[in-house]
Amino acid sequence: MKVRTRFAPSPTGNMHIGNLRTALYGYLFARKEKGDFVVRIEDTDQVRLQENATEIIFKTLEQTKLDFDEGPGKEGDCGPYFQSERREIYKKYALELIDKGAAYYCFCTDEMLEQGRKEAESKGEVYKYPKTCLKIDRKEAEERIAKGEKYVIRQNTPTSGEVYFDDVIFGRITVDCSDLDDMVLLKSDGLPTYNFANVVDDHLMGITHVMRGCEYLSSTPKYNLLYAAFGWEPPMYVHLPLIMRDATHKLSKRHGDKSFHDLLDDGFLTDAVVNYIALLGWNDGSNKEIYTREELIEAFDLSGISKSPSIFDINKLRWMNGEYIKNMDFDTFFALALPWIEKEECLKEYDAKKLAKLIQSRVEILSEIPQKLAFLPFVEPHTTEMYCHKKFKLDEAGAKESLEQVLAKYKTIENWCEQEIHDALIALAQEVGKKNGAIMWPARVALCGLESTPGGAVELADIIGKDETIARLENAIKMFS
Ligand code: GLU
Repeated sequence: MKVRTRFAPSPTGNMHIGNLRTALYGYLFARKEKGDFVVRIEDTDQVRLQENATEIIFKTLEQTKLDFDEGPGKEGDCGPYFQSERREIYKKYALELIDKGAAYYCFCTDEMLEQGRKEAESKGEVYKYPKTCLKIDRKEAEERIAKGEKYVIRQNTPTSGEVYFDDVIFGRITVDCSDLDDMVLLKSDGLPTYNFANVVDDHLMGITHVMRGCEYLSSTPKYNLLYAAFGWEPPMYVHLPLIMRDATHKLSKRHGDKSFHDLLDDGFLTDAVVNYIALLGWNDGSNKEIYTREELIEAFDLSGISKSPSIFDINKLRWMNGEYIKNMDFDTFFALALPWIEKEECLKEYDAKKLAKLIQSRVEILSEIPQKLAFLPFVEPHTTEMYCHKKFKLDEAGAKESLEQVLAKYKTIENWCEQEIHDALIALAQEVGKKNGAIMWPARVALCGLESTPGGAVELADIIGKDETIARLENAIKMFS
C-alpha cells in the first residue's frame, strides 16, 4: 500500500509552529516511504477565514521546500483540494449517513440550543444535544426543508457503550459513548464541519496516515464511528505531541508566541527553523541536532515521535541558527546580511562585505547585525585604565608607548588593507620586542573604547580606513598627557 499523508491547514491566519511541524512530519514520512504528500485547504469555517491566509500557507510550503504531490494547483485524482469546492460531495455523503440511520436532520434554532446550554450550565452539567430532532420522521423533515426551513445534519452517536481507536503514538484512546455529543456534520450554510469533512476527505483522498495535533485525539473515536457507518477502513492515526512554551503553557498565538514568519522577520533562517521544528517531538535516538533535508528524510521514523510534550526553546533555536550562519558560504551569508546592514544608517560609509565578514561567525540571528556593528562609527568614552592589561604586561606608560609605536607604523602603510595592517603590526611587535597582544590590545581599544568587539585591531582598522584610524589613535594618545 502506498503511503499517503496530508497537510490540511485551515486558512485562519499565520503559519504557526505546530502547523508547520505537522506539515513537515507529513512530508518527511511521505518522502521516506516513497509515498505521496497531499495538501488540502480546510476552508469551510467561513467565520474564521482570513484574507491572505491561503497565500501564507503556500508561501510557507514553498519557502520550506515542502513540495507536495497533490493539492491546489497540482491537481491529482482526488480534487478539488479546497473543501469549499467540495460541497456536493459532503452533501451526498451526509445523506448516505441519514439513509443508514447514522445521522439526522436537525431544525433546532440557535436560541433553542442556547437555552439548552444555559440550563445545563445552571445545573453544572456539560451540555449535550438531547437528540430532539432525531424523532422527526424523514418525510416530514424533507417537507420542512422543501418549504425553506433551515437545518443542519447531525451525527447520531450511540448513547451507551464505548468507542476507541488505536493511535500510533498515544496507543488506545477510548471514550464513553455517553460523553459523546451529536455533533453537527453539515451546517446550515451547506458546508461541512471539520468533524465531517476530515473523514470524508481523508477517505476519498486515500490518506493512509493522518498526522495532526493531539488536540484531535478525543474527537477521533467519533470520527471512527463515521468510518464504521460508511463501512470504510479508517486510516492510521498519528497524533503529534503538544508544543509548549514552558513546562505549563502551550505555545499559543494569543500569548504572543511567534509564527514562522515572525521568526523569519526576527532574523531566523528558514532551514534552521525547519531543522529545529523537526526535533520538536521527534528524534532518531542519536544526539545529532543538525540535519540536512536528505538526512531528515532518511532518519525520520514514526517510532521516533514522542508522546510527551516538547518545549519550544528559543535559545536552542538561536544556537542552531548561529550554527547555520557560521556554516553557510560567505556569498549566501552576505546576501542575507546585506539588508540588515543597510538598516543601520551609520554603517553606510563602510564596505558592507567587510562588515559581513566581520560578523558571520559572531551572530546567532540576522537581526543582531545592526546592533552588533553600530559601535563602529564612534569611540565609546573610556579612560586610560582600559589600555592596561595584566597578561600583556601593559601599564599606562607601556600602553601609551605601544599606541605611539602603532601610530608611527600605521603612517608607513601605503596599501591600507587587512593583510598589510596585520603584517605591519606583527612586525612591529617583533621590532620592539613586545608580545603581539601588547600591540594589538591598545590598538583596538583606541578604535572603539570597548572591552570587546567583533573583530580585532586589524579588521577594525581596515574597515574604518586609514585616516579615521590615525585620527582615533591620535585622540587616544592625547588622553595620556
Ligand atoms: N484544519 C485543521 C487545522 O488546521 C487540520 C486538522 C487535521 O490535520 O486534520 O487544525
